[in-house]
Amino acid sequence: MESIYQLRLSDLENYFLSHDDKKFHAVQLFDWLYKKRIKSFDEVKNIKKETLEQLKHDYFITPLNILKKEEDQDVSKYLFELSDEEKIEAVLMRHDYGMSICVSSQVGCNMGCKFCESGRRKKVRNLKASEMVRQILQVEEDSKVRISHVVIMGIGEPFDNYEEITKFIEIINHPKGLQIGSRHITVSTCGVIPKIKEFMNFPYQVNLAISLHAPNDALRSHLMPINKRYPLSELIPCLKEYLKKTNRRLTFEYVLLKGVNDQEEHARQLANLLKGINGYVNLIPYNETSHIEYKRSEPLQIMKFYDILKKNRIGVTIRREFGSKISAACGQLRSRKEEV
Ligand code: SAH
Repeated sequence: MESIYQLRLSDLENYFLSHDDKKFHAVQLFDWLYKKRIKSFDEVKNIKKETLEQLKHDYFITPLNILKKEEDQDVSKYLFELSDEEKIEAVLMRHDYGMSICVSSQVGCNMGCKFCESGRRKKVRNLKASEMVRQILQVEEDSKVRISHVVIMGIGEPFDNYEEITKFIEIINHPKGLQIGSRHITVSTCGVIPKIKEFMNFPYQVNLAISLHAPNDALRSHLMPINKRYPLSELIPCLKEYLKKTNRRLTFEYVLLKGVNDQEEHARQLANLLKGINGYVNLIPYNETSHIEYKRSEPLQIMKFYDILKKNRIGVTIRREFGSKISAACGQLRSRKEEV
């Protein structure tokens, strides 16, 4: 048995055809699932009884279980339980341009970035596309909102689960489904080069964010083990190729860690590294966690860093803070729950 939300429209069309039924039922079913938001196949009206029985036999429609929810003014954080009792998180953020959700892509993560809470637990398994779709549906239902933007930046490394995240994107982008515009979808990676190459040919105009966090190989390898395998000397040319091929713009995420990667020298190196690359740097004030010794940079240091990038004509923004009070940073809700 599999979740019905695992199917793309084309998969569903094939399903109906292979059960001697009409292809157009796929669009109707998509409408029941994504517009009318049915909770049971029994609510479906215009599909033949036999096919519906078969559907019920092959697929389930059950929601994820909301274990916990924490809310602040402009952010709601959800802890979900999956059917195998594993736990993942999703965060809803209220922006002035709309609602965005940060979804998880794996249970645990193998990338081992030193400053990241999610990586304290190794990958248990990949999430299915349906489990990512479900995060959106459930948050929309619970918070009574319509989500317009999706970032795949929760627990996990999306490019370590390429098949399912691309399927997820196809499903949520579809005009007959959730209709989330591809330009409103962002995938964030720590820099898995072979998958960035594959992603160049992915036929959707999805945004790509690169977690950079250091301007040179020595420091980056220290903070992010992935850099030993895919160093900046290969990552940067790969990104240039990506930009040339896709004509898009990149986001570089840079978490500022006090005394580690936030010095003026780092800002100058970063400006040099990114010179001529079509993208901008998003400076992220570090969300401190009790298990990890890194500290957040002082506001003055953040401003200095910002100014140096600006002066060197690198596009730069400072990430608005969401929910540091309610531990909205990657993996923190889950790990706190486990401690309790
Ligand atoms: N694995 C992917 C996506 C998930 S992490 C990636 O590496 O991009 C999403 C972003 O949050 C990454 O840039 C990650 O480095 C950053 N991050 C992790 N822990 C953080 C923390 N405690 N405070 C702020 N940002 C953090």
